[in-house]
Amino acid sequence: MIMNINGVSFDYAGKPVLEDVRFRVRKGEVLGILGPNGSGKTTLLKIMNRNLSPAAGSVVVEDKNIAKITKRDIAQRMAVVPQGSEINFAFSVADIVLMGRMPSLQRLQMESDEDLRIVWESMQKTKVDHLADRPINQVSGGERQRTIIARALAQRPRIILMDEPTLHLDVNHQLEVLDLVHGLSRNEGMTVIIVSHDLSLVARYCDKMILIHDHRIEAAGKVEDVLTPENMRKVFNIEASLDYDNRIGKHTVSVIKPC
Ligand code: ADP
Repeated sequence: MIMNINGVSFDYAGKPVLEDVRFRVRKGEVLGILGPNGSGKTTLLKIMNRNLSPAAGSVVVEDKNIAKITKRDIAQRMAVVPQGSEINFAFSVADIVLMGRMPSLQRLQMESDEDLRIVWESMQKTKVDHLADRPINQVSGGERQRTIIARALAQRPRIILMDEPTLHLDVNHQLEVLDLVHGLSRNEGMTVIIVSHDLSLVARYCDKMILIHDHRIEAAGKVEDVLTPENMRKVFNIEASLDYDNRIGKHTVSVIKPC
């Protein structure tokens, strides 16, 4: 197991958000963390990356409790692609990706040729190398998201955590971004954890998923075992079915109506 979440609980000023959340993540899998808005997904992701400390429980990554290692050690293991990354400065795409190397540099150390090589390789993987000199505020939403993923890759992590990776993207860019991270899992053994409220996206791309409801894990496992009509009714208040689409070889969710 590359990551163990051991009985994590959390509250904001006494208001419970997560209670005894426990699950394990295998190396190279794409895991979806699904739940309605406000169910605690972003909070969980912040705990997984030690931006927040749990009130109880622990997060263990590659056999290390993240409470006991440095921020730098964490950054070399996992990278976060935050929600709808707004960057208002006119940094170039290459500058943004170079920021992914910062956790690996000593204080005041300049980047080396090796850092620049990693930046270039990361931009090639996410197909933004042709935009290297373009200011980030002059690229499309899909290109910006691919730049942020390149920044994450430049950290050389084994795990990528993504918070609502397709928010504000057109549907073609949604597929492009998720095909990209799915490919990283299949081709490079990258572990990808996607936090989302989008049932179709999780059904289509994730090997496994956990479903959060009322501060707890309602169901966990394979997509077909978790996204049952009963669970979708209970958690999302919708009448829906999970179907397998032979044309794309993936699951899709058909929403019939609200309950
Ligand atoms: P999700 O990502 O599933 O939408 P969040 O983790 O963002 O859920 O939020 C879970 C709950 O915690 C929500 O009720 C939200 O209003 C509350 N919450 C989130 N952040 C804070 C905060 N900084 N202070 C107080 N309450 C918060």
